[in-house]
Amino acid sequence: MERQDTQPILPGEQIASIEEFEGGKNTYLTSDGTVRSAAVGTKVYDLKRRTVKIEPKNAPTLPKVGDIIVGVVEMIFSSMVSVKVLYINDKKSVSGFSAIASMRVGRDRRDRPIFRTGDIIRGRVTSLLNNTVHLTMAEKEFGVLYTLCFMCGGDTVRVNDTVKCIECGAWEPRKVTHDYGREALRQVYRAGK
Ligand SMILES: [Zn+2]
Repeated sequence: MERQDTQPILPGEQIASIEEFEGGKNTYLTSDGTVRSAAVGTKVYDLKRRTVKIEPKNAPTLPKVGDIIVGVVEMIFSSMVSVKVLYINDKKSVSGFSAIASMRVGRDRRDRPIFRTGDIIRGRVTSLLNNTVHLTMAEKEFGVLYTLCFMCGGDTVRVNDTVKCIECGAWEPRKVTHDYGREALRQVYRAGK
């Protein structure tokens, strides 16, 4: 059973004595047995466990359904890719949470996955089921926005449904966006500053 206090707390402020409550997240204990806040936020008491923690004020805001996400592919599973969110609607996101997208749009006819770790992708939030951000990359403006050459790390361009290195000539299939390229990514960076 949790109870949240609405009054804002500053770092260093006394929030309880150790006889009353044990300090949880974002708190510290001083030598005189006082539990103090280590963050700006509000007090949350767990009355059953007799603990108190501080819920930080600038808790990360989760994206909403319909928001456009730009992120980097961090892990690839058999049917899903996990994406670290970098921008939400062209605004820089510092919360560092991840979203998942179905791999289905990213497989070509031979059923090869066509995303790679490190790809910068753009997608749209379709659901927040189970507190997980789900993305779609099915439409033409979604998919891989930019990536570096998997062989040499060089600059790449889109050639039909592949990404081709302009330095070594290596190419790979990808689900690319209609505006794929370094310039599209640069625009996201500029807008997000
Ligand atoms: Zn290359």
